[in-house]
Amino acid sequence: MSAPHVSSKINAMPSKSAALSLPIVKISRRGAKHLQDAHVWVYRSDIVSADGVAPGALVAITDERGKFLGTALYSSSSQIAVRMLSSHVVDDLSRLLRDRIQGAISYRERVVSDTDAYRVIFSEADFLPGLIVDRYNDLISIQALTQAIDVEPVRSVVIAELSARLKPVSIAERIDPRIRELEQLPARPSGLIQGEKTSTVVTMNGARFHYNAVEGQKTGSFLDQRENYAAAARFARGEALDVFCYQGGFALHLAQSCSKVTGVDSSRPALEVADRNAALNSREIEWIEANAFDLLRDYADSGRRYDTIVLDPPAFAKSKSNLDTALRGYKELNLRALKMLRPGGILVTCCCSYHVSPAQYLEVVANSARDVHRNLRIVENRGQAKDHPILVNIPETEYLKCIIAYVSN
Ligand code: SAH
Repeated sequence: MSAPHVSSKINAMPSKSAALSLPIVKISRRGAKHLQDAHVWVYRSDIVSADGVAPGALVAITDERGKFLGTALYSSSSQIAVRMLSSHVVDDLSRLLRDRIQGAISYRERVVSDTDAYRVIFSEADFLPGLIVDRYNDLISIQALTQAIDVEPVRSVVIAELSARLKPVSIAERIDPRIRELEQLPARPSGLIQGEKTSTVVTMNGARFHYNAVEGQKTGSFLDQRENYAAAARFARGEALDVFCYQGGFALHLAQSCSKVTGVDSSRPALEVADRNAALNSREIEWIEANAFDLLRDYADSGRRYDTIVLDPPAFAKSKSNLDTALRGYKELNLRALKMLRPGGILVTCCCSYHVSPAQYLEVVANSARDVHRNLRIVENRGQAKDHPILVNIPETEYLKCIIAYVSN
């Protein structure tokens, strides 16, 4: 192996030898410019050389002339080839992981309240690219999105640190088969890593929910909506419809202030959990298994009326290329909901597509209101809960929109 070119910047650092011992990934001028602009990813197309670098390795990043740009985690298969960890030399990865995990926990201690379920680590937003950790009362769920997080000793350091700091009864690993395939990681089922308990009950904003660490969608529930649930409950009243209700996150909160609540979802297993959640809270909620688009059309056409409607669809815009179709989908939902809301009603309308900006979503809602001749006052313009941090320098960390509006005339 040829000796890496070392810039004067590295020479000035105390841990020069550590940088020298890391495998080198050389990136293009365009990739270097991206990093300069505070981006934290380098795409495969910007890799100039990564000779002999092992999948998931800790690497030193240099520009084409060999100037040190920072330390990163490498993936040999993903289009995102490099995820930056630090602009400095990292000579002790285990210590960096422990410090960052502790940093993420300290942040939550300041900003999370009224819940024993929250996201503890959110990948780049907590400076731990590729790692997602959620806490559900006494259970912890971890998800590795990259080769680097899946390899030893990273994996065992993460598990040991979470165990020591949060003292869970069990730790489960949640597997997304599609991601493992993209990262060329061996297939593995979701399951327990530590302990034996697989299910628990969590309490958020006074509402209780069943949680199972080895079943369900995503990491079990939509923690990013937690603060929006409480906000919706503050303004909701009368007869309420929760569209795309999943396991009843909004519906259970609406039931705290509404006289009648109906939840709609196309997933029967989700509705079965929703029904158990209603029983857990001693609430009467009607659950309907249906395609939301069909149901909203039928209900709107047949003159049904509500005082509160929540729209929380899955991400329609998975990429920029289907943005127009996605915007039409969002508009259709908002149009139908606005038609059905009585004067004085509340619309809670959400969009979790990163590719739709807050301004674009507001425009969808505004256009829908204009088309059905309703006036809307924005009561609250909201986003994701604070345990899903938004970094000022990484626009990709901001993705959830939640507009609460008051309908008049
Ligand atoms: N509001 C929920 C999260 C919704 S996630 C919460 O706070 O927990 C999106 C939900 O939409 C999923 O439960 C999925 O089953 C459902 N879904 C997807 N397409 C649908 C459709 N066409 N009609 C009804 N539900 C649908």
